[in-house]
Amino acid sequence: MKQKRFILQESELPTSWYNIQADMPIKPMPPIHPATKQPLGVDDLAHIFPRECCVQELDTEHRFIPIPDEVIEKYRFYRSTPLVRAYGLEEALQTPAHIYFKNESVNPLGSHKINSALAQCYYAKQEGTTNVTTETGAGQWGAALAYAASVFGLEAAVYQVKISMQQKPYRSSIMRTFGAAVTGSPSMSTRAGKDIITRDPHHPGSLGTAISEAVELATTTPNCKYTLGSVLNHVGLHQTIIGLEAEKQMEMAGEYPDVVIACFGGGSNFGGIAFPFMRHNLKDGKQTEFIAAEPESCPKLTRGEFRYDFGDEAGYTPLLPMFTLGHSFKPANIHAGGLRYHGAGVIISQLIKDGLMHGVDIPQLESFDAGMLFARTEGIIPAPESSHAIAAAIREANKCKQTGEEKVILFNLSGHGLIDMSAYDQYLNGDLVNYRVTDADIEKNLQNIPQ
Ligand SMILES: *Cc1c(COP(=O)(O)O)cnc(C)c1O
Repeated sequence: MKQKRFILQESELPTSWYNIQADMPIKPMPPIHPATKQPLGVDDLAHIFPRECCVQELDTEHRFIPIPDEVIEKYRFYRSTPLVRAYGLEEALQTPAHIYFKNESVNPLGSHKINSALAQCYYAKQEGTTNVTTETGAGQWGAALAYAASVFGLEAAVYQVKISMQQKPYRSSIMRTFGAAVTGSPSMSTRAGKDIITRDPHHPGSLGTAISEAVELATTTPNCKYTLGSVLNHVGLHQTIIGLEAEKQMEMAGEYPDVVIACFGGGSNFGGIAFPFMRHNLKDGKQTEFIAAEPESCPKLTRGEFRYDFGDEAGYTPLLPMFTLGHSFKPANIHAGGLRYHGAGVIISQLIKDGLMHGVDIPQLESFDAGMLFARTEGIIPAPESSHAIAAAIREANKCKQTGEEKVILFNLSGHGLIDMSAYDQYLNGDLVNYRVTDADIEKNLQNIPQ
């Protein structure tokens, strides 16, 4: 019988994360202070983030970083996640390719973000922090953080973009169910929020407003730390549990991927599945191709520039060396909210620069076509973000159909779409459109990057 799902026993779970920085031929450039342009060290970052996360952020030496026992214990609530052979999708496509996906949608929150939320909350707790705060747009990260905070006995305060709070009401219900205090941003609870509301009483909120409120809360409240769900190196590090498991599971299936694909917002689920396999390209001569699938409406990997830029819209963060569309770039309001970010993580940006991976951009309608086909052939309704990875995998499988190649394609299913059904309704009603960015728009925003 053909085996469909490959699952590791709890005793076989990886016990370390993989730090690709140790193996990179060219190390990432450091974050720098916007005014002094001096490189930032652990002490400069540790008043905002848990210290251990800052140490991991800048660690270019240790290849494997042990996962604390307490985090492994919480991982056991839902890990391993299944590696699945997509026989249904293969058949529908009539492709000779072997398609596998890693199903990160099967956990209490329904996306991969929990893998890092648990680690960040654990370190915060260890360091004597009592409160954590963050911002969230669509709400996946806020939900993961709310859960992880409750698991480790921390208080969580989440600033959710006001307009998203109205568009995706169930995500704030989830956060509140796990005990988080959820505030629509901009709010009257911070100085930054008050300033914004004073200027514009009906401001709909943005990730920029929510970040400034969360950072203000963290820096003005004793024992409160700020956490981030993507982009930073330590977040991608925690996500490597995905690829390390997949490596063992592919071995169970007796195969090794020729192509590894994930959708791309800031890079955490991509790095999570890709880095453990990329290490064999770097060290053992493997020639796997790595493809990051970004939305056509936010094409930093395929049409952005490699520059030092702010990590956030408002310009509060350090400057990071990254592929960016400019921090002032305002992506169209696509349903894949988790992919609406102007820049790429620092490690990924360096890897692209060095030709070790590449991006593709996927139009919104193609992503939904792919998500529909996947739902109907594999029985899982994917998150609109994850559908970008599915679309890229389908493109590769169709190429194999042309050439007759039996390539092994592995993609990450970063989450399910069960609370995104209004997006599916719009698709089914024929109300969704594509948003192609003009060169002029990209040019204009690149000019706003500080020199
Ligand atoms: C947040 C999110 C993403 C994008 O974030 P990355 O850091 O690029 O992984 C992708 N898929 C889902 C389901 C998400 O919640």
